[in-house]
Amino acid sequence: MPAPDIAIPSRAPAEVSADDTVLPFEVAPLDLRGRVVRLGPAIDTILTGHNYPQPVAKLLGEAIVLGVLLGTALKFEGRFILQTKSDGPVPMLVVDFMTPDKVRACARLDKERVAAAIAAGSTEAGALLGRGHLAMTIDQGGHTSRYQGLVPLEGGTLEDAAHEYFLRSEQIPTRVRLAVAEEFVAASEGTSHRWRAGGMLLQFMPRAAERARVADLHPGKAPEGVAPHTVKEDDAWVEGRSLIETVEDLELIDPALSSERLLYRLFHERGVRVFRSAELRAQCSCSRDSVEQMLRSFPQHDRDDMVENNVISVTCEFCSRTYVFEPAEVADREAG
Ligand SMILES: [Zn+2]
Repeated sequence: MPAPDIAIPSRAPAEVSADDTVLPFEVAPLDLRGRVVRLGPAIDTILTGHNYPQPVAKLLGEAIVLGVLLGTALKFEGRFILQTKSDGPVPMLVVDFMTPDKVRACARLDKERVAAAIAAGSTEAGALLGRGHLAMTIDQGGHTSRYQGLVPLEGGTLEDAAHEYFLRSEQIPTRVRLAVAEEFVAASEGTSHRWRAGGMLLQFMPRAAERARVADLHPGKAPEGVAPHTVKEDDAWVEGRSLIETVEDLELIDPALSSERLLYRLFHERGVRVFRSAELRAQCSCSRDSVEQMLRSFPQHDRDDMVENNVISVTCEFCSRTYVFEPAEVADREAG
């Protein structure tokens, strides 16, 4: 069937883009697809709420950008959970994206080791995370199965881990860029700061699957005597990959540079098409009911251990809201 003859309207890129949005795009001549995310108030709400040390907040911010870039790809109702587990000063990061637009996140940290890392000036992502793994789970709710992709963390950045994941699990040539920064704003009451973040995901999705071959990221790992795995990458992907590598952190977070302008700068020679942008917000999904259910799922002796000052109080790690229960409220119901 021939493609319907629809003229695609073209226009100049928008000068400004709204914060807390995801903008999908396509560069058809190169078979590239992707998304640009801009986070303002949403990321500021999450990071300021936790009040983590600055490098931990920045690292969690990068995980949030990655979680949003991947979670907004879901084509059904559900959640996308990105979680690290590792042996560094920040042993866990969790980003929970719930379709279509809610994101929450938290980190666990070893305060002393984080303070030591800051004192030693060793605060890059790899040093804070250490070694472990990054897990990605898609949860469609109900009885549908959860899919988990697992990728090792080996002292590199979250961008590295994401590239490894797409290479191993999805076999889609993919590049991501993540940027997080504090913006300092001069005001009459003194300088205030707020967090901003941005990111871009670019994927090569040719109609002919055999064009999507990529070389191994670490040819050096091949056992001795085995020729390193080399593949000639498709010219279209080499071009796309080279272009996204020119994106500066500032371009991803600068409120004065719209997502559309950034895409235009990168791809105007080939022609880039943007789709409808979607909004995002920072919102926790905890509730008194869900905490009560969770408490009821524990054996009675575990609940007994949780009683302090005659009440059980549970604080949500994501939003710090505290729920207080009388022990009798969540006790096993009498049979019969
Ligand atoms: Zn909560």
